[in-house]
Order: sequence, then structure tokens, then C-alpha cells
Amino acid sequence: MTLTRAHIHQLPKVELHVHLDGCIRPSTMLELGQGQGVSLPASGPEALAKAMLVAHADSLEEYLDRYRFTVAVMQTAAALERIAYEFVVDSAAENTRYVEVRYCPALHMPALSLTQAVEAPLAGIRRGEAETGTMARLIVCGLRTLDPSVSLDMARAAVDYKGDGVVAFDLAGSEFGHPAVDHAPAFEFALGHDLPCTCHAGEGDGPDSIRQAVHVCGAHRIGHGTRLREDPDLEKELIENGVPLEICLTSNRHTHTVVDIAQHPARRYFDLGGVVTLNTDSRLMDATTITDELLIAHEQLAFTRKEIDTLILNAADSAFLPQGERQALRASLLTELEAIS
Ligand SMILES: [Zn+2]
Repeated sequence: MTLTRAHIHQLPKVELHVHLDGCIRPSTMLELGQGQGVSLPASGPEALAKAMLVAHADSLEEYLDRYRFTVAVMQTAAALERIAYEFVVDSAAENTRYVEVRYCPALHMPALSLTQAVEAPLAGIRRGEAETGTMARLIVCGLRTLDPSVSLDMARAAVDYKGDGVVAFDLAGSEFGHPAVDHAPAFEFALGHDLPCTCHAGEGDGPDSIRQAVHVCGAHRIGHGTRLREDPDLEKELIENGVPLEICLTSNRHTHTVVDIAQHPARRYFDLGGVVTLNTDSRLMDATTITDELLIAHEQLAFTRKEIDTLILNAADSAFLPQGERQALRASLLTELEAIS
């Protein structure tokens, strides 16, 4: 059966890997830029959306460079709150029922205090959740390119807000030449305080980076994990252990992690029994939505409706929620999915 975009749009969805600073509405970005005197690469929403799209980045680094424009307009508590709120509203419009959105508070300092930099987006996602019913939680990131002491500060902040909207710690940023092992103390702190961890790995660097994320840093999930197939033993281990992979198809094509989506290993990992989840990474820089990502999986990787349901349920099962909430989420998704033929 060929699925339409409308069919996939109506499915209840879960998203686990998306960056808050990659999801600003172009109109909001322009408004905030004008209000804050930040110059942006275009003056109209459509032109700005085009300028922010990273369809032809030569590297992960060039892709990440776009973020300096979004981060520039996210230096007040009101802007962070609004962007987080609008992100949840936009997620709800995709019929997303649960979303974990990530960002690095250090990028909003020293304009904001660490407390403000965490509490502003928390207020925004709470407002969005109250209004739409879409559950939203925050993942606090350290960055590979910043000093490891900053990552440790971010992990401490994440732990401080554990149970209050923050559900995990992540390590993001330029992967090549910036090994996760340098940031191991941040992971150790988070895990030592029962805060789960994920880690970007296997996107800008090879399987050894994934090995570090899992074996040295103790990550429960892997952000991307695209290059896992290059190490058959590690691939077998992660698949057997059910380590969830936060796959971002369009983003991987934009960063040239894969040459084209039809050859993306997501299909292979899924067929081998891996816990594959699909995600956008960013709505703005990748000009995509979670609906689009599932549609692309259907059209280019031959995921059937039944398999798409599994991708959605995999994401629910991999959510960094307390067990009871995770099970309730799965049960309600299953009921909804079964009602849509
Ligand atoms: Zn990412």
C-alpha cells in the first residue's frame, strides 16, 4: 500500500532527537532579530528559510555554522520561552504526542544566567504542553567543542532539573577531532545521579566514536549512529542490546553522512532488529518535519505502514520517561494507531 503524506500526518508520533535552536519559525526569527538588533541573512520569512536551509553543506561543521544565526536571537528569557512554546505548538500540529527537545544552555550565557537559560525553555514547553496536550521534555546538551568543564556544568544543571522537565543529558557539536571521552566526567555525573544520557555519535566520525559513547560514556541511546555498520561487531552488540538509534534521514543527507537517503543504513539496522527511531534533527536547517521523515522512510526505504508503526512505538519505548509514563504513552499510541487503517 502506498501511503500519502496526509495518511502519515494523521498518525500519532513521537520525536526524540531535535534541536531547539534548529526549530525557530522564520517569522519569529525575523521578529526577534528586529527587536534585538541582530542582523540576519534575509529580511523575509521565505528568503530566511531558504538561507537557513543546509541542503548542500560540505561538512557537519558547515551545517552547524547556521546555528549561530538562530542562537543569536535566543539570548533573552522571553525569546527562549517563546521559541520553546512555538516548537511544541508546531509539534502538536504534526500530531506528535511526545517530544524530547534538546539545546545547550551555555550558548545562552552570559546573556542569561544558567538558571534562566534552563527555566525559560522549560516554561515554554510547559505552556505548549498545557495548550496542546503534546507532552514535551528537555534534554540538556554539552558541546564537544567547548571545554569539558562546561559539559560538566551542563550535566549538573540537567540533574538539578531532573523530574522537573529535564529528562537527559546529551553531547552534541562537531564530532570529528572532539572525542566524547574528553567529556566523560559529565556523563559520569549525570549517570551517577540517575539521569539518562544520549550522545551524538557516528555522524561526523566513525564507529570508534559510537564505541566511546556507549562503552566509555555509558550513553543509553545514540544520536544518529549512522556509521555503525562500519564495525560489524559493534553493530551486532548494539542491536543485540537494543540500544536505540536516533536516526535523522534528511539531516544525514545534508551533512553528507550518507550520499543519498535510499542508501541510508536505517533500513539495514531495522531489518537486523535494531531499535530504530526517526527524527528531524532540525525543522529549519533541514526544512523537514517528522511527517516528512516518516514519508521519506516509506518512499525511499520501503518502510510499510506496519513498520512505520514500529518506528513510532520504538520511539515511545525509548523515551526518557519514568517507566509508568512510557508504558502509558505506548498504550495510547497503540490504540490510536490501531484506529487508523
Ligand atoms: Zn542532532
